[in-house]
Amino acid sequence: MNLNIINGRVWINSNLENITISIKDGKISKLGNQDNIPEADVSIDVENNIVFPGCVDVHSHLRDSEFSYKEDFISGTQAAVAGGFTTVLDMPNTNPPIINVKELKKRQNNAKNRIFCNVGFYSSPIRSEDVNQLRLSNTIAFKIYLHKPFKEQDLSDVNLIRIMNRISECDSILAVHAEDHQLFDQNNNHTTESEVHAINRIIKLAKQTNCKIHFVHVSTKEGIEAIKNNKSIVDISCEATPHHMILNTEKTNSEKHYCEPPLRDKENQETIFNSVVDGGIDIIGTDHAPHSLRDKDEGKPGFPGLEITLPLMIDLYMKNKITLQRIYEILVDNPIKRFGLRNIGQIKEGYNADLIVINENKMNTINVNNFLSKAKNSPFDGNQILGVVAKTIINGQVVFDGKKIIASPGTGRVLEKEVDF
Ligand SMILES: [Zn+2]
Repeated sequence: MNLNIINGRVWINSNLENITISIKDGKISKLGNQDNIPEADVSIDVENNIVFPGCVDVHSHLRDSEFSYKEDFISGTQAAVAGGFTTVLDMPNTNPPIINVKELKKRQNNAKNRIFCNVGFYSSPIRSEDVNQLRLSNTIAFKIYLHKPFKEQDLSDVNLIRIMNRISECDSILAVHAEDHQLFDQNNNHTTESEVHAINRIIKLAKQTNCKIHFVHVSTKEGIEAIKNNKSIVDISCEATPHHMILNTEKTNSEKHYCEPPLRDKENQETIFNSVVDGGIDIIGTDHAPHSLRDKDEGKPGFPGLEITLPLMIDLYMKNKITLQRIYEILVDNPIKRFGLRNIGQIKEGYNADLIVINENKMNTINVNNFLSKAKNSPFDGNQILGVVAKTIINGQVVFDGKKIIASPGTGRVLEKEVDF
């Protein structure tokens, strides 16, 4: 089947252009105007809305398995699609955790016919000897939790150097949750020092191993400075979440909306905001971390982010706080380049037809009860923002029509080495 997208303002070469997109066999087959574009089986009129490359989230917790009561592959990837994400990278701290090839393969198989968007899988090796085999088994990247290693996972300098050397050899990347639990205070509060100390420690090890590092959800001014000061010496990048970028402890009840690292004060938050805008922070990751309401009451960290991250950024764009070019960089281009993804992220002939339609003029009130995610909680609940996702097209198929999911599970693919990255 082929499909034409007409009457869109299409994001091409950092501009919005009135162009018709022709899609065939899941790929963008031609760009043109209405006179020179081939006839299609179906023509979609996007009514002068923005057509943008699908967003890529490098930090999602899709849960499933023993955590299916919090979220599963179906609900998690539906949330992604409704939020304009066409590819998400899934974190390994599942139950059971993804610590070896056997668990990775089990998880990929379990996902295969149930996902609505394309999904890549992280793993977190216990043994450095497993790194290469994990990579060959299509792990997109590696992740460690410095403050919360898995059972039997040795994250001492000596062992971490072994793991980092292996990751560097197979040209992959290590994502790091940088917090040192020894520097939490006596009430177990996640101090800013614990983040800065962990970042500096990993930078030192990266210098010794040449391992590429991606620091997830950086939350402190000093942390960002440490990363900035070392970018020319080591291959490091960093990410911020929309909540650390927009919310602070003065505006938001950070106990009710607990996350790790926790929301910070206004000074740290403003630094994060400015760094996202000026380029000091490379990527926005949702840290989509769904929990049941009961788990939230018990203090579990995090909240869902897939459905609101892009709309929050569009709202900032409409308020002239960030450019569309910068949104493209932090949600599409930088994630793709940093994680080595192929054939996506541009509206260009030959590229995969992973596209979203954005209506930037439509006002919407964030309402957790409308989330497709199973997690019905958010510190942004009730916020009025400008900007909605009006359509999501994945692998050439319309998956979301602005109101509901209209494709069947399995529209998305598990990302594979040599094909997708
Ligand atoms: Zn996370």
